[in-house]
Amino acid sequence: WEWRKPVAASRRLVAAMATEHYANVTIGGGNAAGYVAKEFVAQGLGRGELAIISDEGVCAYERPALSKAYLAGEGAARLPGFHTSVGGGGERQTPEWYAEKGITYKLATKVEKVDAKTKSLSTASGNTITYDKLIYAAGSRPVYLSEFKVPGSDLQGLHYLRNTADADKLVQDIQAAKASGGKAVLVGGGYIAMEVASQLANNGVPSTIVCPEPYLLSRLFTPKIAEFYEKFYASKGVHIMKHAKATAFEGSGKVQQVVVSTKDGEQKLDASLVIVGVGARPNVELLDGQVEMVPKPVGGIKEHVTNARQTATQAVRAIKGKTTEPYDYLPFFYSRVFNLSWQFWGTNENAEVAHFGDFAAGKFGAYFISNGKVVGVFLESASPEEQSAAQKVAREQPAANLAELESKGISFATSR
Ligand code: NDP
Repeated sequence: WEWRKPVAASRRLVAAMATEHYANVTIGGGNAAGYVAKEFVAQGLGRGELAIISDEGVCAYERPALSKAYLAGEGAARLPGFHTSVGGGGERQTPEWYAEKGITYKLATKVEKVDAKTKSLSTASGNTITYDKLIYAAGSRPVYLSEFKVPGSDLQGLHYLRNTADADKLVQDIQAAKASGGKAVLVGGGYIAMEVASQLANNGVPSTIVCPEPYLLSRLFTPKIAEFYEKFYASKGVHIMKHAKATAFEGSGKVQQVVVSTKDGEQKLDASLVIVGVGARPNVELLDGQVEMVPKPVGGIKEHVTNARQTATQAVRAIKGKTTEPYDYLPFFYSRVFNLSWQFWGTNENAEVAHFGDFAAGKFGAYFISNGKVVGVFLESASPEEQSAAQKVAREQPAANLAELESKGISFATSR
């Protein structure tokens, strides 16, 4: 059989290097991919018409859960509980769901190259896949402090949060801190810092937020709105340092202290774990030079979970010839921390602000006005009716002035 051996080997090689073809391929297995599959199924999908290629080890899930219910300790969310598209009110798309619908889902598969001209891509394992239509939904990755060469940023115990593997490591360290009386430091004053700090407090782990700006979530909150949350966090035992930067991490192998520089000098904080949330970068390199991008330094493609869901739907409708309308998106941001819940629709760029409601009681909001029109609305602890009224205002942008908005408050939106 000696002579047959190389033949069998080369057959195996041919099989390994095979080219597969799908009418539609989605690169990325995040929120958008799940909603792409949902919409394809809704529009009618033949077997083998769609492949999803993801370098994650699990099928698409509702990513926002990772910084919220996933970290909740007792009764925390776990897969398969939050696979897409439960967040958008759809069926829970488990691996079996994709198989039933005839969708090929390639897990743990990294795409290394895309050639938009020949409509083909190659994977790290050397396979080539060709397509008629490509949906590019590769998402983002965290900004790493090692990119800025922050000393000690490669120590164990420094966490970034983007996928379930990251979240599992974080949960382990939270449990360890809980058991040993350890403390946590959050680097950054954005979404990750605020949401993870609230879960750390729920787990009984004391934490400090090291926020570089004058107040939390400064790109969205106003100083008055931030003050409410800062007081609330303080009441839950979360310490907040503002105008503060983490300049180094110290420890032998594992992090033990964080060096923080503030206006008043340098300080060292004990930390058995650190969570870094200093922003995200879009994974757009595979398409570099092949499609039009948002110019740097912003770069890439605008991303938010609602946007991911809606662009997914729009892309599939366009592929199926169901729409020729341009994409229309009302920016939407939200968060849930402790027993609080806020939403924001529209824009706050160069806007004047009319605050309203009862800040002391924790039920309040703000209108953002630009050129005499309401262009954005923020609400905390609002009812579903108030939320839809606010969303409508941000979409329709009615004319109004500061005094009127301040005196009418939420009724400006609900009585329209
Ligand atoms: P954010 O953009 O929300 O916040 C980043 C924070 O880090 C800001 O305070 C920023 O300050 C600060 N920062 C930037 N660079 C540095 C640096 N070199 N050193 C220290 N601090 C720095 O990002 P997150 O990491 O919190 O979250 C990442 C992304 O995840 C979000 O943009 C969002 O897309 C998503 N996400 C959304 C959630 C939601 O919608 N509820 C929840 C969790 C995540 P500055 O503004 O001055 O740059």
